[in-house]
Amino acid sequence: MTIKTPADLLEENVRWADERTSEDADYFKHLSELQTPDFLWIGCSDSRVPANVITGLAPGEVFVHRNVANIVYTADLNCMSVVQFAVESLKVKHIIICGHYGCGGVKAALEDASDGLVEHWLEPVRDLKRVHRSELDQLSDHASRLDRLCELNVKAQVDALCHSPILNRAWEREQDLTVHGWIYGLKNGRLRDLECTRSGPPADARSSGAS
Ligand code: ZN
Repeated sequence: MTIKTPADLLEENVRWADERTSEDADYFKHLSELQTPDFLWIGCSDSRVPANVITGLAPGEVFVHRNVANIVYTADLNCMSVVQFAVESLKVKHIIICGHYGCGGVKAALEDASDGLVEHWLEPVRDLKRVHRSELDQLSDHASRLDRLCELNVKAQVDALCHSPILNRAWEREQDLTVHGWIYGLKNGRLRDLECTRSGPPADARSSGAS
């Protein structure tokens, strides 16, 4: 990987913008007038998992929220504001929560690392580790335990999001909205569907979720 400076990025940006307008003179005019993405992506901040790049989506096609270990806290105003805007204003049809194998955040939780603020942020992943301890202990090596916890984390975040009042209100008014849990392999560049897709409220959220 070549070392780049901020000046290189600005230069690259001019090249990129010129290329877009040479292909389509109205490219930025159209983009600036309308934002209608079908997808909200909630992923990890890891620099190796950029939503647009790995899915081949262009600017304007995916609304993105990323944080360490792709965690959905319903008390996290930042994440929930993104979800609310995506669901209620942009009316995205799909929310993809995407984790990745070898996640540093999940690894810190697995190893009980004490890293100050991150330590607090990762509390739900540590809880998950405790809940699934017997399954994780049966795996023969540390890398397998980490990968399994990365998968369990995605599924838990899908579950947390599906219990949020924002989603339950959307489903109550029969909005077309599906939540997917995916995981990305850093070693092969492939996305995998963890088959925890939901297109309606969980059974235990129907009566209480839409307050
Ligand atoms: Zn990560």
